[in-house]
Amino acid sequence: MIKFLDLQKVNLQHQAEIEAKILEVFRSGWYLLGEKVKSFEHNLSHYIGSKYAIGVANGLDALRLILRAYIEMGVMKKGDEILVPSNTYIASILAISDNGLVPVLVEPEINTYNIDISKIVEKITPKTKGILLVHLQGRIVFSDELKEIAQKYHLKVIEDNAQAIGAQWQGLKSGNLGDAAGFSFYPGKNLGALGDAGAVTTNDEELANTIRALANYGSNQKYVNIYQGLNSRLDEIQAAVLDVKLKYIDHENTIRREIAKRYINEIKNPVVILPENPEHENEHVWHVFVIRSEKRDDLQAYLTENGIQTLIHYPIPPHQQEAYKEWNNLSFPISEKIHQEVLSLPISPVMDTMEVTKIIEIVNIFKILK
Ligand SMILES: *Cc1c(COP(=O)(O)O)cnc(C)c1O
Repeated sequence: MIKFLDLQKVNLQHQAEIEAKILEVFRSGWYLLGEKVKSFEHNLSHYIGSKYAIGVANGLDALRLILRAYIEMGVMKKGDEILVPSNTYIASILAISDNGLVPVLVEPEINTYNIDISKIVEKITPKTKGILLVHLQGRIVFSDELKEIAQKYHLKVIEDNAQAIGAQWQGLKSGNLGDAAGFSFYPGKNLGALGDAGAVTTNDEELANTIRALANYGSNQKYVNIYQGLNSRLDEIQAAVLDVKLKYIDHENTIRREIAKRYINEIKNPVVILPENPEHENEHVWHVFVIRSEKRDDLQAYLTENGIQTLIHYPIPPHQQEAYKEWNNLSFPISEKIHQEVLSLPISPVMDTMEVTKIIEIVNIFKILK
C-alpha cells in the first residue's frame, strides 16, 4: 500500500537531531515559554521575513487570537463581517464565528481552488472589516488588485497560512503578505510538529503584543491581567522539533514540487482534471495534490484496490455542515462541485520515484465503468 502520507518516515529523516533536542528539553527542567520557543520564534520570523512571530498552541488558535486581538484593539467588533473562501477547511470559519464575527463566504475559482478575488468587492458591506485569505492546498492567493481592494475598503488582510509555509509571491513569503498570518504545525502539515502547534506572524507591534498577552491569560506581566485571555502556548518540546524541521522545509517543498511536476506532465486521462500550474513555480508548495473527476468515488475505490491510499479534501463544504445550519439552504455551486469531485493523491518529501511512477500508471489506466 502506498500511504497517503508516511509521517513516521517524514520524521525519521531527522531522527538523530530531533531526539537530541527532545532529550535536551527533558533534561532542562523547563517546559514552557523558554529558550526553545524563543529560538523557534526568532527563526520563523527570519524565515518568513516578518518582524514578529508568536508561538501558540495550534493553527485554529493562531487565527482566533489574531481576530480576538483586533477586537481588543478596537479595530473590529462583534457583528463585523470577515470574508472567507466558501471551500476552506472549517477551522478558518470557526476562528471567525468563535469571536462573534460573521463569516461571509466567497466562492473560489474552480481552477485554483482559491478565493475568487473578482468576487470579493460585491460581498463588501459597511460591516466588512477583513479578509481571511486561505492559501489552500499550498497555493498562494494574492494580487495587486487584492491589495488595492483592502486599502480602498480599509480591510485587514489575514492569511490562513496553515497549508502554505514556504510559498512565495513576488519574492515575499506567504505569512508576510497581509497584516497578520496564522500557521498550523499539525503533524501532517508541510512543517509538522509531533503534536499540536501553531504560530502567528505579523509586522504590527501592537498586534504582536496583544496576541502574546491574550495567549497567556491576558497577561504580559505575571499575575497582572489586562484581558480576559486564554491559555494557548507552544510547548518547548514542539518548538525544539519545529526548529530542527524548519531548516529542511525548503528542500522538502522542492521535492513536493518535483512530484507535482511529474503528476502534471505524466497523468493523461480524460476523466481526470489536473490542478493548474501556478504562474511561478514558487507560488505553490503542494501541501496536497488535488485532482478532480466526475467519477471521483469510482476512481478512489479503484486506486484503493490498486494499493494507493487517497483522501478527500474535503467531502462536505462548510455551508452544508450541521454546525452552520443557518447556511444549509444557501447555494455555492462552485464549492459544491469541488467538494463532490476532488481527490488528493499522495505527495510528500519521502515518496520515491517508483511510487510516483506507479501512481501515474494506475491513474492513467483507470477507465469509467459503465
Ligand atoms: C490545519 C488547518 C487549520 C487549523 O490548524 P490546527 O493546527 O489543526 O488547529 C486552519 N486552517 C487551515 C486551512 C488548515 O489546513
